[in-house]
Amino acid sequence: MEKNPVTLEAIVSLCKRRGFVFPGSEIYGGLAGIYDFGPRGVELLNNLKREWWKANVYDNENYFGLDSGMFKNPKVWEASGHTSGFSDPLAECRNCHARIRVDKELGKLGVIADEKMSEQEINALFDAHRDEIKCPECGKKDFTKARAFNLLVQSNLGDFTSEGAEPVYLPGEACQGIYLDYKNIVDTMQPKVPFGVAQIGKAFRNEISPRNFLFRTRELEQADTQYFVKPNENKEAFEQIKQNRWNWYLSMGVREENLRWHQHENLVFYASDAWDIEYNFPSLGFDELEGVHDRTDYDLTQHMKFSGVDLRYNDPETNEKYIPWILETSVGMGRMFLAVLADAYREDELGGETRVYLALHPKLAPVKVMVSPLLKNKPELVEKAREVYTSLKKVIPQIAWDDNGNIGKRYRRQDEIGTPFCITIDFDTLGENPDLLDTVTLRHRDTGEQERLSIAEATERIRSAIA
Ligand code: ATP
Repeated sequence: MEKNPVTLEAIVSLCKRRGFVFPGSEIYGGLAGIYDFGPRGVELLNNLKREWWKANVYDNENYFGLDSGMFKNPKVWEASGHTSGFSDPLAECRNCHARIRVDKELGKLGVIADEKMSEQEINALFDAHRDEIKCPECGKKDFTKARAFNLLVQSNLGDFTSEGAEPVYLPGEACQGIYLDYKNIVDTMQPKVPFGVAQIGKAFRNEISPRNFLFRTRELEQADTQYFVKPNENKEAFEQIKQNRWNWYLSMGVREENLRWHQHENLVFYASDAWDIEYNFPSLGFDELEGVHDRTDYDLTQHMKFSGVDLRYNDPETNEKYIPWILETSVGMGRMFLAVLADAYREDELGGETRVYLALHPKLAPVKVMVSPLLKNKPELVEKAREVYTSLKKVIPQIAWDDNGNIGKRYRRQDEIGTPFCITIDFDTLGENPDLLDTVTLRHRDTGEQERLSIAEATERIRSAIA
């Protein structure tokens, strides 16, 4: 498979330059693995969330939305296995003390290893390949043994002893909230199995080596769905969910050649099947974008055991009581953001000049339309352009005004942030040519083509592209 020609460096630079993503706490030298979404980034992020929500909650039948609290009773993380088993294998360079994630370094050599293996298993593989693994910082090949490092982040919420004896954890994954509210949703919404719950929530992981921009961060946001099905009625629904998620990326404009499926070889003991949708990330190659997991009854069984509360579903049709099986989809919003942005990143030649533009789906573009007077120093043009801008803003709030520099430069700036349309007001709009009174130029981002339309037609064109 071909490497994505876009580099991570180009994406990081565009994100900083154009207000998409900033390094967190930058004026203090930053904080590893934390990023801020800037004015353009937060719009793209919100557009992605809205489209995801629409596809999963509104366009599906029998799906419910949820927004659960981040902090949870510490027992939750015992029941889920996070306090004991949510760890990655870490080794430290004896020379410069840089830390590596051993499973990922082995993976780069084509050796199948993952965080689910025991310390012993991973060390056996590590020892067999030590002379092929270099420290990413100093280049030496002298590492400590691999040890399991727990990724949960602790807090002192509600603990006034300063001893930290009973830490309340930040969520290691967002989806636990769905299991905890499963019973409340059944009791209040009376859904019939199969039904689904969707949630977008924050998660925190003490990642050993947060790198590669938004791909691996310590604070992340996950968009999850959990579909509750009758025991053993998982296979067909699982295939359908896999297909839906794949198609969703295509409908967001991601090119199919940059996506592929990866089936997990080494399943956790309770799982029936697990797949990742991988994206051809810039500079990194294919890696996990979204997980689609067939988890059987594990999650609810664990919470029933640890909480002592009966979580069985009382089937009104058959009068059977059972614990539903769960089909899960889980994607990090940062990885989704990075994949969509990288996929839209293009360079071409327009009017004899090279340009960078983002071919974002109009639904996702942070700005839908830029309005501009042809000349800044002609008050009658500025006045008319302001009028158009103000009335358009009422129907298309994600709009920009730009009267800086020449019109070509203004178009280029919008190209770089992916604005699909630009409207320019000129003397013909004012009636210099009476046939063209109240018409504008509508310029298209991807082709640079311009057409002359009435203001009403141009508005309609934009509205239908973003609907
Ligand atoms: P990886 O093997 O890359 O560490 P994972 O298998 O631990 O990922 P899951 O626990 O299945 O990931 O999380 C579901 C999704 O959350 C992933 O598919 C990914 O999109 C996202 N995700 C997980 N960890 C991170 C992270 N540190 N930074 C950004 N996104 C993440």
